[in-house]
Amino acid sequence: MIKLKYPLKYIAITSGYRSKSRPNHAAIDLGWNNKYGGQNAPIYAPANGKVILVVDGKNNNLQNSTDPGNLIKIQHLDGLTTRLIHLKKGSIKVKVGDIVTKGQQLALMNSSGYALGSHLHYDVWLNGIKVNPIDYTYYHDDQIVNLDTLKTYQLKKYQEEEVNSEFKLYDKVIPINLINWQGKKIKQYDKVYYITKLEPERKTVVLSALRNNKYQIWARLNINNIQKVS
Ligand SMILES: [Zn+2]
Repeated sequence: MIKLKYPLKYIAITSGYRSKSRPNHAAIDLGWNNKYGGQNAPIYAPANGKVILVVDGKNNNLQNSTDPGNLIKIQHLDGLTTRLIHLKKGSIKVKVGDIVTKGQQLALMNSSGYALGSHLHYDVWLNGIKVNPIDYTYYHDDQIVNLDTLKTYQLKKYQEEEVNSEFKLYDKVIPINLINWQGKKIKQYDKVYYITKLEPERKTVVLSALRNNKYQIWARLNINNIQKVS
């Protein structure tokens, strides 16, 4: 399952998913902070994907309680879809069919449609059913989480923890075979090299050798070319 990224630099949940006081609110509301764009905070793509719906041109604070206002809907991998709602009129930079990348700025926050004050209404769908965004969304190193939000909702932190099921180990000696395209062993490296970094998006692992108590990068190998020695 891909890991979504919170669509704001500063993360503060002002209304949770189906809370006791709002059982029909199948989304989270995210607030703003003066240091990070205030009421017009930039909104970013939660993951790579394709834009499948854009609504723009709606005014703020409409009285019709079913009107979400200006929004972007994105289809991601693994059956996930996200919606970014109440966006600032005229701020949307993408159109239907565009391919977006995780972290790309898409629009600005505001209060278009039925909204009391500026905020981002963010919902996540799995195979067409609304799910709790905090189960699928992670905060990253370049984001700031409001302390109350962190405590109350125990948000998940993103870590590059695995390349695939075979290479989960970090900073640990494991013997590795270099293999050819047919899967045949070319050479075995053992006990000397450590996996010091995993790069899931590049499908590589970095092997380093320990010399004088320092790791020195020895090679960056594609996971298709290596195999753990069993
Ligand atoms: Zn909401």
